[in-house]
Amino acid sequence: MKDDSLFYNLRKPPHTVSIAWADEEVVSGVDNICPKFGDEHFLGNLRGGDIAIILPSSNVKDFTWTWYSELLVTDNVLQIFQDAKLTGFKTRQVTVSKVKRKGNKPVPKLWEIVVTGNGGEADPACGVALRYKCDYCKYRVYSPYQDNGIIVDPNNWNGTDFFTVNAYPKYILVTEKVKEVVEKNKLKGCVFIPSTKISHTDFVKNFFKNMDIKIIGRE
Ligand SMILES: [Zn+2]
Repeated sequence: MKDDSLFYNLRKPPHTVSIAWADEEVVSGVDNICPKFGDEHFLGNLRGGDIAIILPSSNVKDFTWTWYSELLVTDNVLQIFQDAKLTGFKTRQVTVSKVKRKGNKPVPKLWEIVVTGNGGEADPACGVALRYKCDYCKYRVYSPYQDNGIIVDPNNWNGTDFFTVNAYPKYILVTEKVKEVVEKNKLKGCVFIPSTKISHTDFVKNFFKNMDIKIIGRE
């Protein structure tokens, strides 16, 4: 079958170490509840501050990922992204609180990449048809999960290089241009999966099999 996916999921390579936050308290934020339905539409906690991290080593790859799936990049990578005029993200400060194994190299400055680009609702063909949408907050209920990956509907996409779709706010989606920039510069610490080939873990599949997906909007 021809793969005509135009978009990729940018993610952590399997079997790589995730980075721990240094302090959960600092970043725990305010409750994000619906102005109309309150707790019934609880959307999780909004992160208040920027993150501080504990690095296992001063040998930092171009891309690193935290336990909570934040994407961190070095100053050098940010410069490359900016030079290539990649769009659809903003940066947040990252504080390195501790380095467990200090090497000879200084720790590079790190930035958190926060995806701001918007792909809107995914193509219902990937099994995430919208069933309920709150008019007062970002609460959404989608039809049960099917294993068709993420099919982006280009009509709903705002055209940025980095973006997410509403049903899968945790999946960083990127354009071919991002993949080319990363490959051309031989950047390490990430992989690209065609968005239509995303396969979820058995845990997630079993979870979704039994209930409607309740997915929250992005911060
Ligand atoms: Zn609501």
